[in-house]
Amino acid sequence: MESAAGKLRSVADRPVKLKTGAEFKASLDDGRQIWVGGRKLDKVTDDPALSAGIDLIASMFDDQFTEEFADATTYEDPQTGAIVSRAWQVPRTLKDLEDRRKIIEYSSLKTAGTFGRPPDLAPAIAVGLLAYLPTFRAKKSLIEGCSPDFAENIQNYIAFGRDNNLTASESLTGPQNDRSSPKGVEASLLRVKSVEKGGIRVSGAKTVGSISAQANEIFFTNLGGIRETPAEACIWASVPINADGIRMISRETVSHPGADPFDHPVASLGEEADQLIIFDNVFVPTERIFNLGDPTAMQYYGPVCTFAHWHVLTRLAVKAELFVGAGQLVLDVLGTSHIPAVQGMLGEIIEYAQTLRAFVYAAEAKAKPTEGEVMAPDVGMLTAGRLYSIQHYPRIIHTLQELCGQGLVMRFGKAAFENPEIGHYLRDLLPGKGVSAMAKEQLMNFVWDMTSGSLAGRVALFENVNASPAPRLRERLYNEVKRDGFMAQVKKLAGME
Ligand SMILES: Cc1cc2nc3c(=O)[nH]c(=O)nc-3n(C[C@H](O)[C@H](O)[C@H](O)COP(=O)(O)OP(=O)(O)OC[C@H]3O[C@@H](n4cnc5c(N)ncnc54)[C@H](O)[C@@H]3O)c2cc1C
Repeated sequence: MESAAGKLRSVADRPVKLKTGAEFKASLDDGRQIWVGGRKLDKVTDDPALSAGIDLIASMFDDQFTEEFADATTYEDPQTGAIVSRAWQVPRTLKDLEDRRKIIEYSSLKTAGTFGRPPDLAPAIAVGLLAYLPTFRAKKSLIEGCSPDFAENIQNYIAFGRDNNLTASESLTGPQNDRSSPKGVEASLLRVKSVEKGGIRVSGAKTVGSISAQANEIFFTNLGGIRETPAEACIWASVPINADGIRMISRETVSHPGADPFDHPVASLGEEADQLIIFDNVFVPTERIFNLGDPTAMQYYGPVCTFAHWHVLTRLAVKAELFVGAGQLVLDVLGTSHIPAVQGMLGEIIEYAQTLRAFVYAAEAKAKPTEGEVMAPDVGMLTAGRLYSIQHYPRIIHTLQELCGQGLVMRFGKAAFENPEIGHYLRDLLPGKGVSAMAKEQLMNFVWDMTSGSLAGRVALFENVNASPAPRLRERLYNEVKRDGFMAQVKKLAGME
């Protein structure tokens, strides 16, 4: 029988530049060097947790060919007329921005918000570079012997990613070492080692490259950590993750691949793993370099990452709505919804979700075209929303746990329910309001995976720091939100003029 992908490809009168899940999986079997738990993998799919995560991502590729998800995940590229992934859509208007949000909401729901770097995240950084194209066009390489055309490279990279339905990871931060010593940071700093025909060679390390081992490319730069980034470390670039000299060391995995989906509805889906990425004399071709040697381009982290940060906030809003849904279901199955104090606890989760949505909509409503004519969400709203989202996250998790009472801990598993000797006790003693004991436990298992298990622990830590911890976000608010108008109002009211 012809697959949906094959059908779409044969009937469409336009080119369809989308990969199937199988094609995506095949693209990962490329000799990439990855270690998990000290063991080198022959293929990235040899590790169960990475493999389950890859299956989940592959299903997102297949969804592109379904009627249900085609609109959320694909669009017709105005430049080429081809059907391509929305991940690479460049929003030029407010409507484009709303449309681009569809794939963020889609990938957030698909992973229950547990993948902070789904396939549509890293392209948002490439789009961020495009948003400042005139700036990057005006910049020149300060590394002798290598003179990339940054603007042309940015445009070509977007076309390359779009036409190949590419997935990428992004690593902007450096490894954690002695922060008090510039030497500590410099030892691991990714930098240009030599220039040769057609490109440069870089060595150093990038850290916490979430999803790197499960993607096609890595998009990188150096952020913060040292007061003045030396010219040879001022770089924005991208290389395939299987490039010679790249070695990935994965952290301990935390999901439950292979578990019965009843027991672990979310954690059985695997995870996006995080990797320390060693660059040992890696060749970066001239055409994949978007800045080289110019420290002023490094200050564009905030503006360039605006679209990625909009993604982060939108995903958290979607996840907050899942917390509301889960909370209401808990009240329903426990029969606690008539208790005012319980209603108040759910009210707090609703407030969180509504507030995050409001920040997303406000950032879009206040969006403005950048110098490169890309419609960019308002950074002040995004940063305030992100700060609110991470400050309240632990309390919201705790409140949802609180609503569940003993049910969140006293979970027994499908095998116990199916055991003829003890299953009837569980079924008879633990039913909820209008639902069986098993249905009640299934809901608790979902809440466990979202709030309490090892996967939820990693995700909570991720939310706290993945796109800058709270103290840095407060600093950004101080530096980026204009107060002149407010000050003028105070002066007027106080009679200071
Ligand atoms: C699970 C996970 C996934 C991640 N994924 C990615 C990814 O995909 N790509 C990527 O680029 N990065 C990723 N990150 C890294 C993230 O960007 C960093 O953790 C974050 O920038 C904080 O840097 P650090 O961890 O090196 O903190 P450190 O520099 O070691 O500092 C520790 C703490 O001190 C405080 N602090 C330090 N310096 C300052 C300062 N100047 N101002 C205010 N407070 C400060 C903060 O509270 C900070 O958390 C991920 C992190 C985690 C935990």
